[in-house]
Amino acid sequence: MSSPPCIALIAHDLKKDDMADFARQHREVLEKFSIVATGTTGGRVQDACPGLAVTRLKSGPLGGDQQIGAMIATGAVSMLIFFIDPLSALPHDVDVKALTRLATVYDIPMALNRATAERLVDFHR
Ligand code: PGA
Repeated sequence: MSSPPCIALIAHDLKKDDMADFARQHREVLEKFSIVATGTTGGRVQDACPGLAVTRLKSGPLGGDQQIGAMIATGAVSMLIFFIDPLSALPHDVDVKALTRLATVYDIPMALNRATAERLVDFHR
């Protein structure tokens, strides 16, 4: 049996509540994936959905976003849901650019906001 596709979850700053809510709302779809997430985001998703198996990487500012980038480059991650916070200052800008670039290079579905993420998970119902 082949392993389930892997989805990566990242939420910046004030978008973490949104990610926890998104995971709760779509738990039955997310159960079809293996899930990796940056540290704090993964913890929030895990708390919101205790039954979900979430592999937590480093926190984003400590390299977690780049760990996910490496997984995209090696084909280990096949979908990215990345709730960026457009109202925060620029410190995450380099990570947003790097992941947008890699998701584009490797042509994987990527959602930068909840409306797009809703549509991506709808394909997997
Ligand atoms: P976090 O990382 O989930 O550990 O907060 C995300 C980020 O800030 O890039």
